[in-house]
Amino acid sequence: MVPFLDLPAAYDELRDELDAAWHRVASTGRCVLGEELAAFEREFAELCGAAHAVGVGSGLDALHLLLRGYGIGPGDEVVVPGHTFIATWLGVSHCGATPVAVDVELDTANLDSALVEAAIGPRTRAIVAVHLYGRPADMAALREIADRHGLKLVEDAAQAHGAQLDGATAGSLGDAAAFSFYPGKNLGAFGDGGIVVTSDAELAERVRLLRNYGSRVKYEHDVQGFNSRLDELQAATLRIKLRCLPEWNARRAAAAARYLDALAGVDGLMLPLAATGTEHVWHLFVVRHPDRDRLRAALAERDVQTICHYPIAVHRTEAYAASHGGAVLPATERLAAEVLSLPIGPHITAAQQDEVVAAVSAALTPAAASEPRV
Ligand SMILES: *Cc1c(COP(=O)(O)O)cnc(C)c1O
Repeated sequence: MVPFLDLPAAYDELRDELDAAWHRVASTGRCVLGEELAAFEREFAELCGAAHAVGVGSGLDALHLLLRGYGIGPGDEVVVPGHTFIATWLGVSHCGATPVAVDVELDTANLDSALVEAAIGPRTRAIVAVHLYGRPADMAALREIADRHGLKLVEDAAQAHGAQLDGATAGSLGDAAAFSFYPGKNLGAFGDGGIVVTSDAELAERVRLLRNYGSRVKYEHDVQGFNSRLDELQAATLRIKLRCLPEWNARRAAAAARYLDALAGVDGLMLPLAATGTEHVWHLFVVRHPDRDRLRAALAERDVQTICHYPIAVHRTEAYAASHGGAVLPATERLAAEVLSLPIGPHITAAQQDEVVAAVSAALTPAAASEPRV
């Protein structure tokens, strides 16, 4: 069997360090807003090349509290990509603002910067660019558009820990960024977690208030806040895994290069672009095929686990169909129909990749070629 992602192997590699850290934290009796979180926030901000990081309860909370920290609310609009995880849109909706969907580029699956300007109106406040699958979005073009219209440029970097673009790191490619530490991400906790990263001291301070009941001093509440804090056990876990991030990202990149090489020329299979000018961190290795469901079934038959990221476009979900069902997003719809994520991660072995490649090739080799001619 080839698992989609081998999380137990990740624990095994770090077992001694993690177990020791958990016992150390447990014996302090300090569970939230303690020294582990403060240290992790400093270390993560440093990785990103940003001044501030504020740990929160999830990636969705990071997006929501970041946008709310900018004062975005009812009546405001925020540009989002059509093809993304629903959380990108929910972060906007949870502020009471309206997500305005823009289509993506078919080949990168990232926001198509050429289409963004047409979506900007008098109520637009921000653009949320997603570095989908670990590949940085077209930030230079988006920066130019954001500046021209006086908009905030926000990164949804939930899939892009450590990704780089022209020497700068995700988390410092826009005005502010939201990361997720969901267990399957490139930097994953043992549960939910997220963080807001920015060099804007005022925004960081507002998110600090919002994550903790609107309070700086206990029982004094400046605003109606939320309870969304990255706890000490998760912070201690993440500090250890953060030290492995460069190495684990490099292993993902090596696995991606192996797939690109071994799958080149497989009939009808569309491969992800190799990275150019970006340090793609390969959170996902996403291929496309017009008969995706048949390919997926054939792989399952050979015990190769795959996932579709994402099979239903956000504007087609029950949650958004009433408000956004009329959106015209052809590339987004095509991706929803064709994408398939193959197993990848820092612990995938060459033998496992060989199994995946063999299964894909067998599924897509035209039947006529493999059967004797009559
Ligand atoms: C995972 C993810 C999120 C949400 O993060 P959670 O921690 O699961 O709330 C947001 N955006 C993208 C692109 C993601 O992949």
